[in-house]
Amino acid sequence: MSINNFISENLILPLSDLATDRRIYKYLKFLNKSQFWTREQIDDYQNEKLRLLLHHAYTNVPFYNELFKDLRLKPEDIQTKEDLLKLPIITKDMLKLNKSKHLATNYKKKDLVFSSSSGSTAEPFQFYTTRDSASISRASAIRSWYWMGYQLGDKYVKVSMNSRNNLIKKIQDYVNNCIYLSSNQIVSSEFTRIGNEIQKGNPKFIRCYPIPLQFLAQMIKKENQNYLASDLVAINTTGSTLHDDVRKEIEEVFRVKIFDAYSCEGGSVFAQCPTHENYHPGEESAISEFIEDNVTLSDPERPYRHITTDLHNYASPFIRYDTQDYIVLGEDKTCSCGRNYQNIKRIKGRDSDILRTPSGKLLIVENFVAYFQYVSEVDQIQVIQDKENEITINLIVNRAFNSEVHHKLSTYWSNYIGSDVIVTVEVVEEIKLTPTGKRRTVIRNPNISLND
Ligand SMILES: [Zn+2]
Repeated sequence: MSINNFISENLILPLSDLATDRRIYKYLKFLNKSQFWTREQIDDYQNEKLRLLLHHAYTNVPFYNELFKDLRLKPEDIQTKEDLLKLPIITKDMLKLNKSKHLATNYKKKDLVFSSSSGSTAEPFQFYTTRDSASISRASAIRSWYWMGYQLGDKYVKVSMNSRNNLIKKIQDYVNNCIYLSSNQIVSSEFTRIGNEIQKGNPKFIRCYPIPLQFLAQMIKKENQNYLASDLVAINTTGSTLHDDVRKEIEEVFRVKIFDAYSCEGGSVFAQCPTHENYHPGEESAISEFIEDNVTLSDPERPYRHITTDLHNYASPFIRYDTQDYIVLGEDKTCSCGRNYQNIKRIKGRDSDILRTPSGKLLIVENFVAYFQYVSEVDQIQVIQDKENEITINLIVNRAFNSEVHHKLSTYWSNYIGSDVIVTVEVVEEIKLTPTGKRRTVIRNPNISLND
C-alpha cells in the first residue's frame, strides 16, 4: 500500500464519512477481515442478523407484521436461514402495492436515504434505506474492487451513461481520484473522445457497463490504434450480462482482465474473486437463496433463481425478495482464493438486446432504465425495434400517469433516439414474458444488423 493509498483509506475516507454521515470506513475494515471467515462464522453472523431483522420487521413494519400474523407466525419461529422457508417469497409488485406499509414506522424521514432501482427487468422501483445500510453497501462494493487489485486512492476512470450534475459527486470524484467520463449516447464521435480521455488520463482501472466498453474496444481495433493505457491493471464491469465473447474482445484490446460484478436492490454485491474461479456474494450484507422454478428446469445450464434477504436495510426491509435474476452455481467447496462464500459460476437473467439506429447509434437497456428509474408514474417498460427506423416503448403505468407525462416521455425519447427513427410511446395492459417465463426489456428484430 502506497502512502497515497494509506491516506485515502485511513484519513480521507473517515473524513468523508464524517461529512456525509456514513460509516463506510468502519464497514470496510470489518469486511476486509470477515472475507476470510470460516463458513461457520459466516452462517452464525447471518443467522444473528436475521433474527434481529425479523424482530424489527415484525414490530415496526406493517407489511411484515400483517404477513406474520396471517401466517400465525412469530419472529421467534425463524431462528436460522433454513427457517426462512416458512415465509413466502415477496415480489416487487407486492411491495409496490403496499408502499406505505413497507416503510418502518420507527424511522424519521430525515434518517431515511432515498434509493431507486430499475434492475434488469426495467421495473422502476423507489424505496428507502438507512445510512447504515447504504454504508455497508458502499463498503462492500469497494471491497469487491479490492479483489481486482484496486486500493482507495488509485486513479480510475468511470465511463457512465449519465452526466455528473451534482457538485458533491464532483468533489467526491476529485477526492477519489476518479476521472468521470460521461456520454449519454453510444455513438462514434462521443467514444472517440472517451478513448482519447482514457489514454490521456492513463488510469489504473476502468469501470463501465459491458456494451459501451465493447463499442469502444471495437472502435480502437478498427482504427488499429496501439492503445496506450500503460498503467491499466484491470477493468470492472457491471450492469448487464457479460458474455464470454464480449469479455474476450474487451480483454484483447485493453490487455488486462475484466472483473465483473452484479448487484440488485435488497441484495449483496456478487463480484469475481482474484482467481476468477467464481463470483462471490458479500454474504455479510444479505442472505442469498437459490431456488428452482419453471425457467431453471427448462434451461440446460440449470440456473437458480436468486431470492434475497437484506440484513441491514431496516427502513424498507427486503425479506425473501424475488430479484427475478438467475445464476449458475459453482462447485460446493472452498474457492481457491481461500474465501468460504457461496460460489457462483455465472450470472444470467440480465440478458437484453442492443438496438441500432440507422445513423449507427447503439441503445442498450441501461439507456432506458437509467431514465425510467426516476419516473414514478411508470411501473414497467419494454422497448421493441421492429424495423430499423421504428422503435416502440411500451409502458405499464399506474394511476399517477397522465397525458402530460405521456407527452413529456414521447418528446424526450424522440429527441434522444434521433430524427431518423419514428419513436412511439405506448401504454399497454400487459408485457408478455418469453416462452421460458423471462422478461426481456429491450428486443431487436434479429434481421436488423448491428454492423455497418
Ligand atoms: Zn474465490
